[in-house]
Amino acid sequence: MPSDNVSETRRKFVQGTGMGLVAATLAAPVAAQESAASSAGGDAALRDPRNLYPRPPFAAQPQPWPGLAGRMTPRPDHGETSYRGSGKLTGRKALVTGGDSGIGRAAAIAFAREGADVAISYLPQEEPDAREVIQLIRSAGRNAVALPGDIRDERFCQELVAKAVQGLGGLDILVNNAGRQQSHASILDIPTDQFDWTLKTNLYAMFWITKAAIPHMPPGAAIVNTSSVNAYDPSANLLDYAMTKAAIANFSKGLAKQMISRGIRVNAVAPGPFWTPLQVTGGQTQENVEKFGQQTPMGRPGQPAEIAHVYVELASAQSSYVTGQVYGESGGAGNP
Ligand code: NAD
Ligand code: MG
Repeated sequence: MPSDNVSETRRKFVQGTGMGLVAATLAAPVAAQESAASSAGGDAALRDPRNLYPRPPFAAQPQPWPGLAGRMTPRPDHGETSYRGSGKLTGRKALVTGGDSGIGRAAAIAFAREGADVAISYLPQEEPDAREVIQLIRSAGRNAVALPGDIRDERFCQELVAKAVQGLGGLDILVNNAGRQQSHASILDIPTDQFDWTLKTNLYAMFWITKAAIPHMPPGAAIVNTSSVNAYDPSANLLDYAMTKAAIANFSKGLAKQMISRGIRVNAVAPGPFWTPLQVTGGQTQENVEKFGQQTPMGRPGQPAEIAHVYVELASAQSSYVTGQVYGESGGAGNP
């Protein structure tokens, strides 16, 4: 049962329009120009994808890690005012790590509008972003569970899953999306503690959370991991990060072979450049932030709102024959 007593009528209204009252009152993202706002939600009108969202140059905008989407210029579009659900995940129970901002936030909003109850994990410093997502999930008429904490700690990962299961009343979608990316020009500049930090966040936490979650997941459940184009075409300045993303793609394929014996599907998403806090908090040099996305054939970065549908599809029963796949979305360059 949703915890916020939203009436059935209102729930249907919100799911139908994809525009919760809270969503409407939250500051509209600069990126959500009129045309883009309706397109990411599934509107069938023809629009040129090159011009849907902001293109470089962007302003340099360093933020201390882990950063806030709410402080980015232009503000990323996570589908707040655009995503329209159509009941694809009705009654499902999802945990999304890193659900406060960026790609995870877009997935969390879309899941709620598709009818799922959603728990999000994030770092305590990200509370302002997380509060907005919690409000958006609730205004879609769904139960929202907020789980702040540091996933580099195995015990916290176990607690995280336990609290998600308790708060949602079960678990049938797990999105391992939280990630750490810091740019280093040379391998000689990567201290062991940074290397460890990247691997703990991107690999150990995924392993711990997945291990804790599987016993709770029934047949029909789905796991979706976030890999990257860096898995296939590593950036020279992201050696440690890129190797974790290759491992995530590999883990997803191997785990898929194992988990089908339980009726659980496992897939991964491999995004190209997306406009999120990860990139402006040391994930790229500020010089690279200024021209972010320019190198893609599309000539611009993706907005999180543009990739949420992939998470929805991979989690939904429509993808019943899809497991062990890596789905790329990268503006025209990179694999798969
Ligand atoms: P983001 O900064 O919005 O999301 C990353 C999230 O990870 C943060 O919000 C934070 O909550 C979480 N996180 C990081 N360290 C944590 C820790 N120790 N404990 C708990 N939570 C922690 O950026 P994003 O780009 O949306 O990143 C989401 C995923 O997408 C990451 O796995 C990233 O590697 C992947 N990705 C991003 C891009 C891109 O261009 N933005 C491209 C490919 C893949
Ligand atoms: Mg964040």
